[in-house]
Amino acid sequence: MLARIADAGQKWDFIVIGTGVGVALEAASRGYRVALLEQNDFASGTSSRSTKLIHGGVRYLQQGNVSLVLEALKERGILRRNAPHLVHDLPFIVPTYDWWEGPFYGIGLKLYDMLAGKEGFGPSKILSKEETLEKIPTVETDGLRGGVIYHDGQFDDSRLVVNLVQTAAEQGGTLINYFEAEKLIKKNGLVGGVIARDLESGREYELKSRAVINATGVFSDRIRRMDDPGMSPFMRPSQGVHIVLDRSFLPGETAIMVPHTDDGRVLFAIPWHHSVLVGTTDTPVEDVSMEPLPMDHEIEFLLKHTARYLTKDPEPGDILSMFAGFRPLVSGKQRLETARISREHTLSISRTGLVTIAGGKWTTYRKMAQETVDQAIVVARLNHRPSVSETLQIHGYHHHADQFENLKDYGTDALEIQRLIKNEPAWGNPLPGGSIVRGEVIWAVKAEMARTVEDFLARRRRVLFLDARAAMKMAPAVAELMAAELKKGIQWQKKQIESFQKTAHNYFL
Ligand SMILES: Cc1cc2nc3c(=O)[nH]c(=O)nc-3n(C[C@H](O)[C@H](O)[C@H](O)COP(=O)(O)OP(=O)(O)OC[C@H]3O[C@@H](n4cnc5c(N)ncnc54)[C@H](O)[C@@H]3O)c2cc1C
Repeated sequence: MLARIADAGQKWDFIVIGTGVGVALEAASRGYRVALLEQNDFASGTSSRSTKLIHGGVRYLQQGNVSLVLEALKERGILRRNAPHLVHDLPFIVPTYDWWEGPFYGIGLKLYDMLAGKEGFGPSKILSKEETLEKIPTVETDGLRGGVIYHDGQFDDSRLVVNLVQTAAEQGGTLINYFEAEKLIKKNGLVGGVIARDLESGREYELKSRAVINATGVFSDRIRRMDDPGMSPFMRPSQGVHIVLDRSFLPGETAIMVPHTDDGRVLFAIPWHHSVLVGTTDTPVEDVSMEPLPMDHEIEFLLKHTARYLTKDPEPGDILSMFAGFRPLVSGKQRLETARISREHTLSISRTGLVTIAGGKWTTYRKMAQETVDQAIVVARLNHRPSVSETLQIHGYHHHADQFENLKDYGTDALEIQRLIKNEPAWGNPLPGGSIVRGEVIWAVKAEMARTVEDFLARRRRVLFLDARAAMKMAPAVAELMAAELKKGIQWQKKQIESFQKTAHNYFL
């Protein structure tokens, strides 16, 4: 990737700044020459900190935004078809405690089924109290009348990014992490490229392109200011926090969805790997950073509301991991509450030709990418080539990945990891205290562009997000394996371990 970037004679059709891998894939799969520059690791921003749902959004239906729901339900179906190893059906139950809730949510969720049409993941149904308890034995029984079951999609967000990077590269795209866009190049008043820095070597590059696409989420305004220092900001970031608990709080394979909390939010408690993911909050913030921190009141809110719906009340000491992410909400001049700002995306083109795609949600990334590339083609004065992403299989595509057990999230790459282990049996040994094997670290370096211990423990594997203390125990072994593979010395290992332990401390109380 570095060699391709360093090819000074090259003019790109498009440069994408940020984690907009959907855009890079869309462009590469249509045959355009595209480079993507991510200043940190792929998905180290919001894209690894979501609720991990590929969903139509029951809440948007409640708000009457039928077109958004319809679009998301269609994309949900497309993504499950193209990445069956990462997106699967998850049943949710809305527990009901008031007489009107059963019929009310029952009708709403029937409408959700209808909108999904033949893309539906399974029909919704009103459940008796007994049926509800059978599926969620730990749901709060005090006043329980029953529940409504419906279906949506669950996925692993950062694993999907990794697989999208691989797919885009297979289609001819150039994607690189730890590479920061520092300035925009202007020629005759139009954006014509990027001055970027390789953050590992410190070397600066001048990259020319026909169009530049700003896909930097909550950082969008910074890039827009590089284009025009006088422009008014359009981002209204809001923070969302999740906590992760032991599976004993919610055994079984069914998630809980609470449609209306005290502050008008939706609350999810979701089985995720061997743990339970609970979230989220909606706290407006002024400043954004790469490592947002959960606030005390957000944790209290999540613990209090979880206790309301589960028989076992979680205490602060039960939190295995907690993480925060910023919603890249685009509000323009309106000053709505962040929970009420639309989740629709915004595509804008500045007078100098900078294309900015922001907002939206994970579920609709492909559609956003398609629209972005359609517009960028016009800006770049290129011939239009039609999109092929609706039927493009994503790297790792496998229908029966469950057969790979602990390696199932890799899809077909599980076979490659097994091959590595066959050649080097020591790589079949697990990392301290876990079921992850050493060969996975080697694979992440060789084939998934992992460059740091955190890249592996947070995003190639999700240990940091599932159990931060367990991740800290694994860090020294991961550093040693990575150092051997990346040809780094003992100092590198020490620094990596120190830096990881420091970050991991933000993930538990
Ligand atoms: C709490 C929460 C829960 C969510 N849950 C869901 C869900 O369940 N389902 C769903 O569909 N959606 C969900 N979303 C929405 C979804 O996660 C986001 O819309 C999506 O991840 C945003 O991706 P992004 O690429 O715009 O931003 P990011 O993932 O933040 O990527 C922006 C990237 O730009 C990079 N960058 C910034 N400046 C530069 C520069 N100068 N040079 C190079 N790179 C740069 C940053 O390093 C960063 O990695 C959720 C969001 C939040 C906050």
